[in-house]
Amino acid sequence: PHTPTLDLHDGHTIPQLGYGVWQVGPDIAEDVVGQALAAGYRHIDTAKIYGNEEGVGRAIANSGIPRDEIFVTTKLWNEDHGHDCALQAIDASLQRLGLEYVDLYLIHWPTPKRGKYLETWKAFQEIRDSGKARSIGVSNFPREELQEIIDATGVVPVVNQVELHPYFNQAVLRDFHASHGILTEAWSPLGQGGDLLQDTVLNRIADRYEATPAQIVIAWHLAIGNVVFPKTVTPERIRENFAALDVRLDAQDVDVITGLDRGQRLGPDPATVETP
Ligand code: NAD
Repeated sequence: PHTPTLDLHDGHTIPQLGYGVWQVGPDIAEDVVGQALAAGYRHIDTAKIYGNEEGVGRAIANSGIPRDEIFVTTKLWNEDHGHDCALQAIDASLQRLGLEYVDLYLIHWPTPKRGKYLETWKAFQEIRDSGKARSIGVSNFPREELQEIIDATGVVPVVNQVELHPYFNQAVLRDFHASHGILTEAWSPLGQGGDLLQDTVLNRIADRYEATPAQIVIAWHLAIGNVVFPKTVTPERIRENFAALDVRLDAQDVDVITGLDRGQRLGPDPATVETP
């Protein structure tokens, strides 16, 4: 299947389904990213802290796919906040990736106690203007911090990448994003493969569509307008997750899945996380 793209507010586009590589070891990154590209994915979500940018870059280089047909995201890690550090961090990421630019560069966490996300966001505009990142956005930003960087700079992040799955669907934040033209990217979209995929309601829907629970969850993300990049290193699941593009949920099933929300966060709360 062909991946649909969504418009970023800066004029660029982003493939709505991608492949995420958190907890993918540097030893296997090249192999599994190569498999994902062969399966049809054209969007890779990595980060400095994942420690696998080199493998991601090698897989892209060896794929034979033109650079402009692959959307690559990486992220600035917490210790690199601040103007000068940010400018160095993008250069280092590009060097590890072996790329001249990334499609999207994100501030990974606001780490509010550090007090440097606004300065970092200003540096991101320089990074975008330099062409080293085509688009700039943020991750794990609560509404208050989003509003603050928008008010201070007039520059709206193209995306905010946040924890989001049917048990934690971020309805309020998604509305805020929509009202500012910010796309919502969903991390841990499958609830990290835990309880969510055993959910009875979800499994009943999956049976009706002759799809897997993971495919139903991915189809739900696509239906509500999220950008999504499930992670797996299992070859069959790499293909299974991509084939979710063929699952079209009807509106009622989308609403039922949205109704599964339990306010259940799996990862850290961005308002307090400061590590490292
Ligand atoms: P995920 O929700 O994608 O779950 C991945 C796990 O689900 C796998 O390890 C596997 O156990 C299971 N799984 C995957 N496909 C399956 C299938 N078809 N059937 C059954 N089980 C399946 O979790 P994730 O890795 O946390 O999130 C995806 C991506 O989001 C990451 O790789 C990363 O790119 C991004 N992310 C970003 C942040 C951030 O702070 N910005 C944080 C976490 C993750």
